[in-house]
Amino acid sequence: MSYTRAASGADATRVAYRLWGPLRPRGARSAVRHGMVAGVREDDLLRHLAGLRRANVGGRRAPHKPLLLLWLFGRFAATGTSAVAYAEAEEPVSRLINEFGPPMTSASAARRRAAMPFVHLERELWQLTDGSGAEIGTNAPDRGGWLVEVLAVGRLRPAVERLIAVPETLARAARLLLERHFTPALAELICTAVGLDISAPEAATPKPRRRAGFAEQVLRAYAYTCAMCGFDGALGRNPVGLQAAHVRWHSQQGPDEVDNAVALCVLHHALFDLGVLGLTLDHRVRVSGLYVARSDAGRAVHGLAGRPLSAPQPGQPRIDASYVNWHVKQVFKGHESAA
Ligand SMILES: [Zn+2]
Repeated sequence: MSYTRAASGADATRVAYRLWGPLRPRGARSAVRHGMVAGVREDDLLRHLAGLRRANVGGRRAPHKPLLLLWLFGRFAATGTSAVAYAEAEEPVSRLINEFGPPMTSASAARRRAAMPFVHLERELWQLTDGSGAEIGTNAPDRGGWLVEVLAVGRLRPAVERLIAVPETLARAARLLLERHFTPALAELICTAVGLDISAPEAATPKPRRRAGFAEQVLRAYAYTCAMCGFDGALGRNPVGLQAAHVRWHSQQGPDEVDNAVALCVLHHALFDLGVLGLTLDHRVRVSGLYVARSDAGRAVHGLAGRPLSAPQPGQPRIDASYVNWHVKQVFKGHESAA
């Protein structure tokens, strides 16, 4: 069936039923009577966002769909519509995936990374049509060139747009995606990149559970010092600007254990999560060859290359090789610096 045809009336109700599952009896009757998707609730949206199917791209994490959705949320918040031609979205969405997704070696493929989520994003959330208005299914070619050629245009479903028009719902939806696919250090950077303000009061989405005392244990294991640069600032007796960084991310099944963590200053934590900084199996710091800076302070990061990571206090485990390997494969932006 054509999704574009079913934009209003009873058809829309049937589409809503099929897409959003059975509504509560009262909501369902009301939806039928009003011939609209009035019964669609925030819970349904959050359920769909939590259940995004993951593409298996060579065994790597694939945050392509969450990043496309966050970009669409930002666009919707700024302009009041999420409708966008692939040709227009390709550059900014691909850039987002290159920045916050796993590394990609082929520069030509990197420019068209937006094609995969554009085609495969769940149709419960998203409609994709060609220049003639005909529906494009999830089995279409996920190639940027083809999408440009057929004048593909995507848009979040009207029911989704109505829900995210409420700032609190938008914030909860965005937070859910950020917490499931990224790290707290990256969440803020991603929000800035897509122009989203999710500072609305927290509610519904439960925080990912961290083991109590984990951060303190890691900071103590590294003597309240950044293991990369030695920063050990404190305000009176309280350490400042220091964080416990997961090597394998908490959102990606990384355990809250000292052998999967390292104490880092805020700057080096952010750069580590972004893949600017990485580790070797013999616990030395790596710097991505893609990192550039103009000032002395910015260039100081290059000085970390090859430097041994501080060892934890006696009796505390070093980072396990399996977690270092995960970070190398999933996060570090290759092309090691010659420095
Ligand atoms: Zn540091």
